[in-house]
Amino acid sequence: MRRPVIAIDGPAGSGKSTVAKLVAQRLGFLYIDTGAMYRALTLKALRIKADLSDEAKLGSLARATEIELKQSGGSLKIYLDGKDVTDQIRTPEVTNNVKYIARTKAVRECMVAIQRKLGEQGGAVMEGRDIGTVVLPNADKKFYIDASFDIRAVRRYEELKDGGAAVTEEGIKKDLKVRDESDFSRAIGPLKKADDAILIDTTDLTIEGVVDKVLSLIKA
Ligand code: C5P
Repeated sequence: MRRPVIAIDGPAGSGKSTVAKLVAQRLGFLYIDTGAMYRALTLKALRIKADLSDEAKLGSLARATEIELKQSGGSLKIYLDGKDVTDQIRTPEVTNNVKYIARTKAVRECMVAIQRKLGEQGGAVMEGRDIGTVVLPNADKKFYIDASFDIRAVRRYEELKDGGAAVTEEGIKKDLKVRDESDFSRAIGPLKKADDAILIDTTDLTIEGVVDKVLSLIKA
């Protein structure tokens, strides 16, 4: 029997990545972080100093790039053309430039094709912005994980501060606003709740609470 595939979308800082990872772990499913794929391609484009406004060039770059997600122990490792870039894709430089890659039609077409293939065999939790709407419109269960802007900013701030980054709450809010704007207003694959997705607002919930809720809804 084919195991289900679960789509999880939501804005930055909503807690969706943590939830998706834990849900996948509990179910023994594959965890597919699609944001990491856009980040990996952004890293490559920055390294080769590609023109981030050249759609055709970015499309060929996407098609000529190998991005792999490998489950290693309890964590996910991201490989770019055979090299582990798990840490390098989380720098502010990548975060601030990923919007140019994510808005490019030819890049999205390429990424969506890879993501659909990954989801095809079932037994996966796929997380991103357009999973329930574009990548897996027939997913067995869809969730849209949201939270207030302020709590998302606080979570981001604490996560980065704990990681040793020199950040201010104000700076985080500014960056999050820019990221929200590009995620919600992109012409192709914008962040949007699928009509049949279950909305979970995590503003006043703990991660464990959300994970339990998602698991019970999957099993229902
Ligand atoms: O999830 P994460 O914040 O790491 O994603 C990084 C960026 O990749 C997002 O800001 C978004 O612009 C883009 N993205 C996307 N489509 C997805 C997943 C992420 O455009 N399915």
